[in-house]
Formats: sequence, C-alpha cells, structure tokens
Amino acid sequence: MKPAPYPRFLHPAIRLGVAMVLALASPVLIAPSLLHAQNLPNLGGTDGEELSPLMERRLGEQVMNNIRRDPDYIEDAPTLDYLNQLGGILLGSSPEARGDAGYDFFFFGVRDPSLNAFALPGGFIGAHSGLVLSAQSESELASVLAHEIGHVSQRHIARMIGNQRKDALLPMAGLLIAALAARSSPDIAGAAMMGSTGIAAQRQLSFGRDAEREADRLGLQILRGAGFELNGMVNFFGRLQNASRNRTDNLPSYLRTHPMTGERMADIEARIRTLSYKQHVDSLDFLLIRSRLRVLQDDTPQGWRDATTVFLEQSRQGTRAQLMAAKYGLAMLAQRQRDSATAFVLLNELKAEAARTPTYPASQILSSFAIELELLGGQASNALSLAKEARIQFPLSRAITMQYADTLLVNGKKNEATTFLRDQAQLYRQDPGVQRALARAYAEQGKLALQHLALAEYYSLTGALPAALEQLKMARGSSDASFYDQAVIDARERELQASWRELMEKSKRK
Ligand SMILES: [Zn+2]
Repeated sequence: MKPAPYPRFLHPAIRLGVAMVLALASPVLIAPSLLHAQNLPNLGGTDGEELSPLMERRLGEQVMNNIRRDPDYIEDAPTLDYLNQLGGILLGSSPEARGDAGYDFFFFGVRDPSLNAFALPGGFIGAHSGLVLSAQSESELASVLAHEIGHVSQRHIARMIGNQRKDALLPMAGLLIAALAARSSPDIAGAAMMGSTGIAAQRQLSFGRDAEREADRLGLQILRGAGFELNGMVNFFGRLQNASRNRTDNLPSYLRTHPMTGERMADIEARIRTLSYKQHVDSLDFLLIRSRLRVLQDDTPQGWRDATTVFLEQSRQGTRAQLMAAKYGLAMLAQRQRDSATAFVLLNELKAEAARTPTYPASQILSSFAIELELLGGQASNALSLAKEARIQFPLSRAITMQYADTLLVNGKKNEATTFLRDQAQLYRQDPGVQRALARAYAEQGKLALQHLALAEYYSLTGALPAALEQLKMARGSSDASFYDQAVIDARERELQASWRELMEKSKRK
C-alpha cells in the first residue's frame, strides 16, 4: 500500500471529534472551501428544498478532493479507464440515464475488500475493490453501477442533503473550519482534513424505500439499453441478501446504504419477467481488471502470496479468458517482485493467446502493461513505439495517454512532451494528473517558473489552496520568470488569495 501523499495533519482528538460529529450529524462531509464558495445559510434548506445542481457538484468535488488523498483511493489509471468506460457505456444507453443535472460522471475504485458501491453528490461514483472481485459477471458489476447512476440522475442525494436540518450542518462545518484555522502552517489548506473518514463518512448515506425502487427501475432501463443481462441485478442483489442471511452480525455494507427488502427484490424480478432475455459476454478487460484489483487490493508480500494462490487455482479450472486473466495477474506479481523475465514470458503468452482468440478485441490493459514492462526494463525506445501504437489504437485511454507522455520524457523528447501535455491540459482542465506530469516535464527542461505554475494548478485542482499559493510565490521568484509569466502569476495569485481570504474570514466568524 502506498503512503498518503499528504501527512495526516489533524490532532487525533480533533480527528475523532470531526468523525463523531460527522457520524452523528450528517452523512455528508462539508469541506471548508465549499463554505467560501457559497453562503452557508443557502446550504441546507430547512424547507426540504433540494440542493442546486451546481452546489451538489461543488459538494461532490470537495468530498472527492478528500477521497483522492486517501490511501484507499485507487489511483490507478487502468482501473479508472475501465470503470469510466463501463460507466460511459451505461450512461450512453438511454437519454434518461444522465438525468436533468447532466453531470460529467466520474467512476473510481476504493481499496476495500467489503462489498459496497456508493454515489457522492454531483456524479462521483465509487466501487470497492471487493465489490468488483465478487461480481461474477460484467453484467453484475454493471447493474450496481447502473443503480448508483439512478440515484444520481434522480437527484436523490440532492434531496437528501436538502432535507438535512441546517442546525445539524452548521456545527459540523464550524468544527472543520476551526480545525483548519488553528493551524499556522499554510500548507494544510483544503488538505486531507478527513483522511479515511472522508470515505467512511459518506458510507452512511442511506436511501429510502422509494428512492431505492426508483434507482432499481432506472438502473434496469440503463442495463437493458446498454445490452447487459438484466439477471445481473437479480443475481448480485440476491447473493448479497443471502450473505446477509447467513451472517446477521456482519451485514454487507451495500445493504446498509441500499436497504434490500423482499418487496424490492420481487419488484425487480417482476420487471425483468416482462423484458426479453439478452446474453452478454464478459469483456476480456473485465476479467483483467479483476486480476489487477486483486493485486492492488492488498499490495503487500502477504497479499501477493494470497493472490498467487487464487491465480494458480483460476488457471487450473477457469475458462480460456479466465486463464488469460490469471496469467495477467501472475505477470503483475512477477513485475512487483522484480522478475521481469517471467513477466515478459507471461505477457508474450498472453499476446499469443489473444491473437488466437479473435472474439476478443485488443486490450488496452494488456497494451498499457506491455509499455510499463518495457519502461521498467529500461527499453525506452521500445516503450515509445508501443505507446505510439497504443495511443492510435486506444485514443480514449487516459492510462496510455499519460504513459505516452512518460515515454517521450524518458526518451529525452522534452519539447514534444511539454507540447503534448499542454494540449492535454487544455482538453482535460480538471485533471490534476496532467498538471503534475506537465510540472515534471518543465522541470526536466529546466523551466522553473513554468514548473511551479503547473504545480500551483495541480494543488489548486486538488483543493490545496495554500500549497498552490506557495508554488505561485516560488514561480515569481524563479530566475527565468518572463514578463508574461509574471502577469499570469499575478492574476492567478489574486484569484486564489481572494478565495483563501474569504475562507479565513468565515472561520473567524465561527
Ligand atoms: Zn440504492
């Protein structure tokens, strides 16, 4: 498991206090920069008014900023690619899927063996690694995501937050702000206040019976439109329910947040009976990503040993596709144990197998892995030619796009890399990863002012305002800052400082 990129800076007592208030007062985490973004009294309507789509999105972004810093957030480009492409297929299935608010949905994984998935305000949908691993088919996984999309597009979260009593939101927000203001170091801002409680706290969102029925209805419609098996929903929910029957002490967390009743199951089954049956063949990437998540879920030597046992078993008993997924898992494990020879042998067997199986389209996960292996093996120019090919083949893969930038840099093509990343930054304005990579590319070019400017954008996109301001200061002090750079720095500094001042004033009033 990789360490958190930011220190957990809150005093334990404050952390406990925050966690308790969160648990008692509200399922939703209110982060400080949200409070400066909007007047607090407008936050929760006492009259049961729903949150506006813009407010809901901002709230979701703030929670996401905290989650992204959590060590349990799976910051893994192939996983994000897979989940977002699957989500994209579901969202494109019917005009109703996105709902009126029309959010840009974002799907992500959480390192957690328990069976759960959840929707945050504003279209952010998380799936636990345990849930993906327990899904027996892609249709089962799709059914859970489709159900969550249903909650978002029907604005269930907005309504739930709107119904929170305002006096419950205020003390929580005040406590968060006080904890922030108590710190003298500027570099904590907007930072990982909540740590893992960020993910934990939102799990307490629990929907009512009508909301569940509505999400099931829309979820089934989405599944059907996208060509998945409707039985996926029945099978998966049914298995969850059985699991809870046998272990009353340990209800799967999904069932706590999405209460499952006999009536709800009967409703789903009744709807399905009226619809025609369609078969869906699992994509190879579904099986590969399950192997990947098995490794990422417990990325320790003990975890590797456990995963090896599972992969060996799978390669003895599984279908051809499962055999490929097992080999991929074993190759990942070999790579982690610095046995690149074995990893290459397995990868070549996989490629040969894929070539023999024309029903499987080329896999972006395998292509990305091949580039990674070449890079690790120090074969920079091989990596670059693979990345060039892969980029044409999989233009939508963020993993391969970022690998392409990496391989340009490794091959000393610094100007090409910065030009490419600048274009990416224009295309994906909300992606902090692009700014981080751009900063690295500038650093290699020795362009200091631009490097700090890119880092400032990176921190600003992740909600860490003081760190962003600090980077602007460093950009200004850089010997190579041009007249034009200075103007950009000044403008950005004014914007960020205004946001920060507003936040601090709010905290003093509490
Ligand atoms: Zn639900």
